[in-house]
Amino acid sequence: MKYFGAHVSASGGVENAPHNAKAIGATAFALFTKNQRQWLAPALTEEQCERFKAACAECGYTAKQILPHDSYLINLGHPEREGLEKSRESFFEEMKRCELLGLDRLNFHPGSHLGKITSLMSLDRIAESINMALDRTSGVTAVIENTAGQGSNLGFAWEHIAHIIDKVEDKSRVGFCIDTCHTFAAGYDLSSVEACEKTFQTVDDIVGIKYLRGMHLNDALKPLGSHVDRHASLGEGFIGWDCFRFIAQSPLFEEIPLTLETPNEEIWAQEIAQLKTFADEK
Ligand SMILES: [Zn+2]
Ligand SMILES: [Zn+2]
Repeated sequence: MKYFGAHVSASGGVENAPHNAKAIGATAFALFTKNQRQWLAPALTEEQCERFKAACAECGYTAKQILPHDSYLINLGHPEREGLEKSRESFFEEMKRCELLGLDRLNFHPGSHLGKITSLMSLDRIAESINMALDRTSGVTAVIENTAGQGSNLGFAWEHIAHIIDKVEDKSRVGFCIDTCHTFAAGYDLSSVEACEKTFQTVDDIVGIKYLRGMHLNDALKPLGSHVDRHASLGEGFIGWDCFRFIAQSPLFEEIPLTLETPNEEIWAQEIAQLKTFADEK
C-alpha cells in the first residue's frame, strides 16, 4: 500500500493535523509537534495526546502513515559543547513528544559542522546524539533526512547516512528519509526513469532501502547538483513528473509515509490525487 500526503499545519493543536490531512485526501501526513522555530515548547498534556490519538483513529491514520519533523534549530553534529548539549536535549524532548503521541518515527536533518570541525567528527557526534536519545526513549525510530548540502550541512552524500547508521547501536530504531529535491540538489539525478533506477540502486547499495522510513516528494527549483534547497511543486521543477510516477509505482516505497513539502498548498489535493492515479495505473 502506498501512502501519500503532505506536511500539514498543526496550528491550534496537534490534533488538528490529521483533520487537515484528511481534508486534502491524504493517506499520510507530516507535522511539527511543536513550533519548529523555537527551542522550548510547553509539555504535551495527557488530554492533548489523547485528542491527537482519537483524531488519528477517526481520520484513519496509523503511526506508519505519519512522519513528524523536528525543529530546524537542532544540530546534532554541533561543533561546540553548548550548542551540542542544547540540541541533544531538544532532540530528546522531540523524541519523547512522539512517544507520548503514539508516533513511531521522527524525521530530522542530520546536522552541520559549521566549518569548525571535520565532517567525520561531526558525523560521529550525530550518531552519538542518536544513541543518547534512543537510550532515553522507546518505540520511536530516528529517521535521518538526506540534505541538499547547502552550506556546511551534512547528509547530502549517501555515505554520510550510511556512516551514521553504522555507528548507531540499536539498528532497529534508526532509519532514513529521502527528500527528492535534496537528492537532486545533492547531485543524484532523478529526472528520468533511468536516472531514478540508477539513483535508487545507489541508495540501496550504500545505505540499504531496508532502512527507509519515509520520503519527501518535492520537485527542485534549481538544477542538478546545485546544492540549493528550494522546493517546487511536482512537475514544475527540474525533476519532473516521471520521477513521481516512478515512486508511485515502484514496490520499493510501500508502507511508508510519502509526503509533499511543495510550496503551493492550494494544489496539495491535486498533487496527491495525481500520485494516487499513478499508483492505481500500475
Ligand atoms: Zn526536512
Ligand atoms: Zn524534506
